[in-house]
Amino acid sequence: MITKPKGTYDLYGTEGKLYSYISALVDEYMVNYNYSKIRTPIFESSELFHRGVGETTDIVTKETYDFQDRGGRSITLRPEGTAGVVRSFIENKMYGNKNDPIKMYYNGTMYRYERPQAGRFRELTQIGAEVFNSDEAATDAEVISLGYYILKDLGLENVVVKLNTLGDLESRKSYTDALVKYLKPKINDLCEDCQRRLETNPLRVLDCKFDAESDILKNVPKISGYLNKESQDRFNKLKDLLTMLDVDYEIDENIVRGLDYYDHDVWEYYLEDGSLALGGGGRYNNLVSTLGGPDIPAVGFAFGIDRIIALLKDRLSEKELETNIDAYIMAVSEEEKLYALKLSQDLRLNNIITEYTTNNLSLKSQFKIADSLNAKFLIILNNEDLQKGLINIKDNATKEETKIDESSIIDYLLSNI
Ligand code: AMP
Repeated sequence: MITKPKGTYDLYGTEGKLYSYISALVDEYMVNYNYSKIRTPIFESSELFHRGVGETTDIVTKETYDFQDRGGRSITLRPEGTAGVVRSFIENKMYGNKNDPIKMYYNGTMYRYERPQAGRFRELTQIGAEVFNSDEAATDAEVISLGYYILKDLGLENVVVKLNTLGDLESRKSYTDALVKYLKPKINDLCEDCQRRLETNPLRVLDCKFDAESDILKNVPKISGYLNKESQDRFNKLKDLLTMLDVDYEIDENIVRGLDYYDHDVWEYYLEDGSLALGGGGRYNNLVSTLGGPDIPAVGFAFGIDRIIALLKDRLSEKELETNIDAYIMAVSEEEKLYALKLSQDLRLNNIITEYTTNNLSLKSQFKIADSLNAKFLIILNNEDLQKGLINIKDNATKEETKIDESSIIDYLLSNI
C-alpha cells in the first residue's frame, strides 16, 4: 500500500464539510468587506521567499521545500501566502492610483518542512487577506477585526487578539540595540538557534519556541520602552480603534511573528484557553519595495484552517455531524429506477437535497439507508401508481403517507421541507 507523505492528511467526511463551511463563510465576509479573491501559484522562484520572507527566518532557512525543476530553475513550494500575493501585485501592476486600497484574499495550501505534531503539518491550508495602498491605523483595525469576527462567527467565541507593535525603523533599531546588549552576556545559556539569531536577526530570539519559558527570555527589555513618539501615538490610536470595534485584544510584547517583513502592528489570534495560534498578521510597509515594486504600504493576516477544523470538529455534537437529506427515493423495478434517476435530477435542480440508489437493493435495505441519512421524506415509487401519474410520499417524522399527483411533487416538497 502507498501511504500519504509524513506530515500530511487527507481531508474528507466531516473535515471536508467543515472546510467547505469555513471557506463559504469567509467568502461571504470577503464580499461584505469588498475583498476580491486572488490565486497565485503553489510554487514560485526560490528567490521570492529568500528576499521576501527573509534569509534569517526559520521558515526559509529550515522549512522550505526547495527543488530544481527539469529546466534547472530553483523552485520553492510556498511556505506562506503573502510573498506570492505581493509578487503578483507588482508583476500585474495592480497599484491603482495609490489612493485606493487594493484588498485581496486567498485560500490555499502552504508547505513547511516542520516536525509534524498536533496542529503542525507539512502541508497546511491558510486563508489570508492583504490590503495595499493604505498606511492608516484604521486599516490595521479593519484587517484585525475582519479576522477576529470571522473566527467568532465560526463559533470560536472566546477568540482574543494578542497585539504588539514593532514600531518604525528608528524605534526598532534602538530596541534591537538594547536587546543585543541585554542578550550578549547571557547568550551561551540559550539554544544554538538563539545564538545564531543574535548575530543575524536579534528580534527573532523572542520568537524562540525552545527557550520561550526561560527566565532570560521572560525578562528581556520590552519594545514599549523604546518606541519613538510617532510609533507610540500610532499604536495608541490602533488600540482605541479596536476598542471602538469591540475587538477583544491584549498586549503581548513577545509577539514578533516568524517572518522578516513586518513593521508597526503585529498580532496573533488565540483562544483564551488555547496555546496554539489560530492565525496572525501584521503591517509590512517595506515588502513591496523590497521585492522590486514601488513604495507601497500593506497589511494582512492569515489563519491556519487545519487547526480551526480540528477545534470545530471537537465542538460539534453527534447531531450536528449527521447527514440530513430532504428526500430519499425508493425504487426496485427497472421502470421505477429509471423514474428515480429522472425525478432525483428534477428535485436536485430545485434545491431539494435528494438521494436514491442505483444498486439492486431490497426495499428494506433502502429504508435503512434513508434512516441513516435522516431523510425527511421517503418517496416510495411503484409501477401501478406511476402509470396513473401518482407518487407515494411518506413524512418520515409523522409516518403519514399520501399519494400526490406527480406534477405537484416539487411544490409539495418545497412547502413541507
Ligand atoms: P504563521 O504566519 O506562521 O503565523 O501562520 C499563520 C497560521 O497558520 C498559524 O497561526 C497556524 O494556525 C497556521 N500554521 C502555521 N504553520 C502551520 C503548520 N505547520 N501546520 C498547521 N498550521 C500551521
